[in-house]
Amino acid sequence: MPIWTSLLKGHLLTRIKAHPASSARAPLTPRKMAFLFLALLFLWSSAPPLSAQERVIRYGMTELPPLFHQGEDGSFQGFFPDLLRLLAEGEPWKVEFIEGHGDDLLVQLERGEIDLLSMASTVALERRFDYGKVQHYATWYTFYTQGQAEVLSFQDLEGKRIAMQGGFYAFHELRRILGRLGIFSRIVSTRTKDEAFDLLREGKVDVCVAEQMTTARLVRDYRFRRSPFIFAPSRIFFATTKGRNADLLNGLDEKLTQLQAGPFPPLERLRRRWFYDEEFTFFPRWALCALAGTLFLLALACCCLVLLSRKDRIISQRKAELEERLKAERFLSGVAQQLLSGEEAEAIAEIFAGLRGITKARRLLLLRRPSRGSQRRTPEVLSEELAPGLSSWKELLEERLSLTGFSPGWLGALRRKKTIPTTLAESGLDRLLPSDAGGATPLVLYPLFEEGRLWGALALEPEHEGLAEATDLLLKTFCEIFSAHLRQQKEASRLLRLATTDPLTGLANRRYFFDSLDLQIDRFRTGKAKSAPSIILADIDHFKRVNDAFGHDKGDEALRQFAQTLSGALRRCDLAARLGGEEFAVLLPEATTDQAYQVALRLRDRTAERVYRLSADAEQTEIRMTASFGIATLGDEEGLSRLYQRADRALYEAKSSGRNEVAQADLP
Ligand code: GH3
Ligand code: MG
Ligand code: MG
Repeated sequence: MPIWTSLLKGHLLTRIKAHPASSARAPLTPRKMAFLFLALLFLWSSAPPLSAQERVIRYGMTELPPLFHQGEDGSFQGFFPDLLRLLAEGEPWKVEFIEGHGDDLLVQLERGEIDLLSMASTVALERRFDYGKVQHYATWYTFYTQGQAEVLSFQDLEGKRIAMQGGFYAFHELRRILGRLGIFSRIVSTRTKDEAFDLLREGKVDVCVAEQMTTARLVRDYRFRRSPFIFAPSRIFFATTKGRNADLLNGLDEKLTQLQAGPFPPLERLRRRWFYDEEFTFFPRWALCALAGTLFLLALACCCLVLLSRKDRIISQRKAELEERLKAERFLSGVAQQLLSGEEAEAIAEIFAGLRGITKARRLLLLRRPSRGSQRRTPEVLSEELAPGLSSWKELLEERLSLTGFSPGWLGALRRKKTIPTTLAESGLDRLLPSDAGGATPLVLYPLFEEGRLWGALALEPEHEGLAEATDLLLKTFCEIFSAHLRQQKEASRLLRLATTDPLTGLANRRYFFDSLDLQIDRFRTGKAKSAPSIILADIDHFKRVNDAFGHDKGDEALRQFAQTLSGALRRCDLAARLGGEEFAVLLPEATTDQAYQVALRLRDRTAERVYRLSADAEQTEIRMTASFGIATLGDEEGLSRLYQRADRALYEAKSSGRNEVAQADLP
């Protein structure tokens, strides 16, 4: 209580004692009441609040540096005093440190002379005391020796003199263990641990037993040998008399839990200060902030780098895709041009090499189905492109494929314009191909159509199983272009046929005959043909009469049948043509005059032998016809017109000599 409060109280009492009857004679005036009220207000404000009553905790400790010791100025120092001060901080707790011997302190605690101890938790003690739940210190005992002596097991203690500070549970523990093991040793109990170490140093005992943590400095100074063997390891909790001070234990537990939390717990800091000769290393706050900031910036930079590299990767991937697409488009636009210009076979070979390069296929085949009515029974491999190291399938496929060239399943799917992803084993091709072809190689077939009719297929063995969508699209577009090319080719050949065919008889027309003759003359002149060509000119005898007698239509029919007679009597390499009216010509490449003469005789005879059945308006007429033939063989220095003139003159001669005749031209 402050001094002035006591003075004030004294003054009031003096006043009351000096005037014992004043209350009866002089009633309380407002002035006196105000003075009394102010005095009471002062007394109330200066008195400590009831809730803030200080609680005195009497804590019992045995001198055991650095856990507990008295400094030169008489103040209590060590881990436990500091810990308790830390716990009492901010609480209305006042800690009184009471020093005593280990066993005496237990008795004192039971008697209620002290409130708190830091005890080892053993079963025997648990029955008598309450313990906190949060450990605040751990301890273990070991053996110290001097010189060469060593303690590696309890057996090494046989017959030894052992010094140890008494009054601790570990002292009783050691005695119990040695007794149980039947080891005979003399245990010297000392008041302090320094005393026990002094005995060891002076050689009065062989072994000193002490707690490892508290003796670290001492052992280092005297260079004692420490045994690697420990015993009595304990976890230390606060303890109090059973049934008393439970709230105190709970409060201490709560505070200890708080002290242990966080990256640099104050409890850890205390331990380091007292047991490891070092302060907990704290970085200044600014350094921690700078470190955290740097780490954050580094993480940010890493994120940026990852994002940027990802963006770069996406961009380069897109660029590569775009380039691939451009390459494919450039290739496709080149395909049409290549197919239109130059030699078809060469163009196809070049296109296929390019196509394999773009699709990275292991093998690319252009298969052509045998045309209807053709002698050929197996499909033709028009082009084959291979990755290096692969063997060709061309001959094998041409020799050994089934009759139609495609299995019925393939044909059906190809007709439905479907690509066929298949494996060699599924397709049955594996039985036809060499063993190194690989039975599981996927093969994809793309159909090729010519005016809606299956023309063939593009067979592809991809680099990897499963075609990329872009490659599939490229191949489909290529097949469409190729199919358009086939359609265009067919159209062109139709036009060519129209331009070179006589519409009435279906034979070659005049222009085609002379063009072909020109070509044969050229072949002969350049040495490509072994011998000179011959020609036969033919003119139906008295044809005017047929027209006159049966009409123009029947005359036309007669001309058609005469044309059939001619072409039916010729070799495949010979060419029959209608030059105009009822005049016809035959080109015989590489034929001598004699051979031509024999052909002309055959033609004459077949013409004369045939019965011509002419029908028009449901009326049928049968007639016979003859024709006259003039033949000429190309002379050494002769040209086309001169050859024709000579043949024409021979024809005239055949007419002159009575018709149905064959006449040879004069020598050029
Ligand atoms: P020859 O040759 O034996 O001297 O007697 P020819 O009666 O055949 O005489 P010529 O060669 O002069 O007669 C040709 C006749 O062929 C004239 C014409 O009526 C007939 N002719 C020409 N072109 C056609 C044709 O396209 N159709 C029909 N039906 N008759 C034609
Ligand atoms: Mg004529
Ligand atoms: Mg005639």
